[in-house]
Amino acid sequence: MALKLYNTLTRKKEEFEPLEEGKVNIYSCGQTIYLDMHIGNAKTYAAWDILNRYLTWKGYDVFHVMNITDVGHLTDDSDQGEDKVEKEARERGIEPRELVTEQVQRWYEEMDRLNMKTHNVNPRATGHMVEMIEAVKDIKENGYAYEENGTVYFDVMKFHEDHGYPGVGSMNIQELQAGAGGRVKEEEQEEKKSPLDFALWINADPEHIMKWPSPWSEGYPGWHLECSVMSSKYLGKRFDIHTGGVDHIFPHHPNERAQCMAMNNLVEEPVNYWLHSEHMTVEGEKMSKSKGNFYTVREILEKYDAEVVRMFFASSHYRKQVDFNEEALESAESNLEKLYNTLWNVENSEGGEREKLKGEVEKFEKRFEEAMDDDLDTPKAVNELVKFSKKVNKNLDNRKEVLEEAAEKIQELGRVLGLKLNLEEEGGKIPEKAVELLIEIREEFREEGDYERADEVRDVLKEGGIVLEDEGGQTVWKRK
Ligand code: AMP
Ligand code: ZN
Repeated sequence: MALKLYNTLTRKKEEFEPLEEGKVNIYSCGQTIYLDMHIGNAKTYAAWDILNRYLTWKGYDVFHVMNITDVGHLTDDSDQGEDKVEKEARERGIEPRELVTEQVQRWYEEMDRLNMKTHNVNPRATGHMVEMIEAVKDIKENGYAYEENGTVYFDVMKFHEDHGYPGVGSMNIQELQAGAGGRVKEEEQEEKKSPLDFALWINADPEHIMKWPSPWSEGYPGWHLECSVMSSKYLGKRFDIHTGGVDHIFPHHPNERAQCMAMNNLVEEPVNYWLHSEHMTVEGEKMSKSKGNFYTVREILEKYDAEVVRMFFASSHYRKQVDFNEEALESAESNLEKLYNTLWNVENSEGGEREKLKGEVEKFEKRFEEAMDDDLDTPKAVNELVKFSKKVNKNLDNRKEVLEEAAEKIQELGRVLGLKLNLEEEGGKIPEKAVELLIEIREEFREEGDYERADEVRDVLKEGGIVLEDEGGQTVWKRK
């Protein structure tokens, strides 16, 4: 079956065909590493983690690069404002490199806890200064850049005449020109040929900390440059898939594309498929570090299990906005519990003689694949997983081999969505039947007034990851 992906370049769903048979090269724009990752950033990374896992599951050899931005991302989207890393370091009273070292470590811990597949390379901008300076030289030599007072700008209109700009997204150059004027500050207006021009290299103010010598000035690279340079370095001049959040549709990705073509003298598109993930919102507003309306992954993981968070991510489509709220997380938790319960019940069931599930495993896999082939429809895939696991749970009298095959398929496909589904790792090694028996025993102790022993039973269950709640004279239980 063929995978279809929505391509922002052509603005339609297209069948995925790699440049080289059996191989997929992916570049994902990564974290600007000055504060802890927020849950919205993680939603976007989870989408690319699933893309990677799904392509791998389909048999492709995937090479995935995600950069780490540690210089050049300014507080203002035009070429103004402070470097985000430098600003935060200054506020904390530490060196920018010290901040980056600490934040990178925290980022890896968070990514690991969220079971994000490791990328093959996480290149950092500061590690590619030589290549970036060379790229600016190439772009200039090829006629697409000019220097003003030690700052080098990309000549967007010249590029547009030759190759078309923006290329990615639905805007056209006239609309962009009309909208761009207001964003550019006066002093910049004087230097730039067009308000759409963007900086490749910026002449640093004297108080700027992170700066490097170059043929034009002691300065630092523009934010867009690093991605073009690092994607070309690790994936080649042309590669398969480029991903980012919808905030990258303009200007980051058109600028990346233009730089790639200008520096590599490319006539063909550098990237065949551009994928964009929609934002996570809080009460309808984009979650963002600059607005301050964000929850960090760390704070969420204090309250929710990482696997519940992954289930929450998979439960919405990557191209749909998703609001962050407790009900959505609780619903993800309940679905995850259903999967675990089935896995437990299969493990602890002796099975029977019936064979009702026999052909069902393949049918389930087919429906899952159909959902994922349709532009990674993970909510539908989750639905198939939950539906199938309920069916298995109702048919525990099937032959044990068939039950095991069904459970293994639930695990295999759940893992494509970034779930772990490891019974050993999860609390709750106690089978459902045993939990119910222990609850009955606890009830008996309570009826006899032996509260001490009743509490002992509760503690034993708790150690096994089972939480009891007494609700209106009835005891309900949950796996933690
Ligand atoms: P940044 O650190 O701001 O460069 O963002 C890192 C990644 O997270 C980028 O791919 C952004 O597009 C993405 N991103 C930022 N904010 C959100 C959000 N609220 N929801 C989803 N993705 C986001
Ligand atoms: Zn980028």
